Amino acid sequence: CGITAYVGTDDAVGGLLTGLSNLEYRGYDSAGIAIKNGSGLEVVKREGELARLREAVGSDRPTGAIGIGHTRWSTHGPPTDANAHPHQDCSGRIAVVHNGIIDNYQQLREELSAAGHTFESDTDTEVVPHLIETELDAGKSPNEAFRAAIARLDGSYAIACLVDGADVVYATRKGSPLVLGRADGRYFLASDIPAFREFTDEVVYLEDGDVVVVRPGGYEITDPAGIPVTRPVETVDWEP
Ligand code: GLU
Repeated sequence: CGITAYVGTDDAVGGLLTGLSNLEYRGYDSAGIAIKNGSGLEVVKREGELARLREAVGSDRPTGAIGIGHTRWSTHGPPTDANAHPHQDCSGRIAVVHNGIIDNYQQLREELSAAGHTFESDTDTEVVPHLIETELDAGKSPNEAFRAAIARLDGSYAIACLVDGADVVYATRKGSPLVLGRADGRYFLASDIPAFREFTDEVVYLEDGDVVVVRPGGYEITDPAGIPVTRPVETVDWEP
């Protein structure tokens, strides 16, 4: 029920765990993170309280400056480690977190299974990394692959995604909230602004259909067709 993403130059794990803990008020039954660690994507996820994720992370903390995080409120599949987000494709090149519901996931799952994809969870979400994988395998760039996969989805979603080899976070929303926070040299994505209250008061409210690509040095927002759109940067007046 909460998404975070961190794009910076330092410890992404710390930023993501702070963000997830700030989103605890939204309710959740599982939590997880994925980090770009220099040689690939590292995923740690647990059913249960954030304390369980912290414990799992604490013993062998992934190092990296770019990552995504999730607190799950189950809609498809019980709260288990396997059903916790992030979800990945067959090759482990892609990691996805999602809030909301993919209405046509069953049809997509059948199509992907018939094409040889294997699934490790009961979630609607897991079709997303597999769709992106299909597009990458067809020769698309990560950016094009993300867009093409999103175009196949019916339902409501806020989605954030890592693709191995691209030092960015891809994200989009339709019917579920997603905001971008901007601080000196660091960017955050979250379901709600309190997620990054320790880090910045500069926020961009994304709109339905917006696709945002966040890099260490900046971000670009486009519509689903790839046409650039401009969203204002607003200043949040944090209550004391
Ligand atoms: N439908 C997804 C699931 O059941 C996401 C739920 C959520 O918004 O946390 O895993």
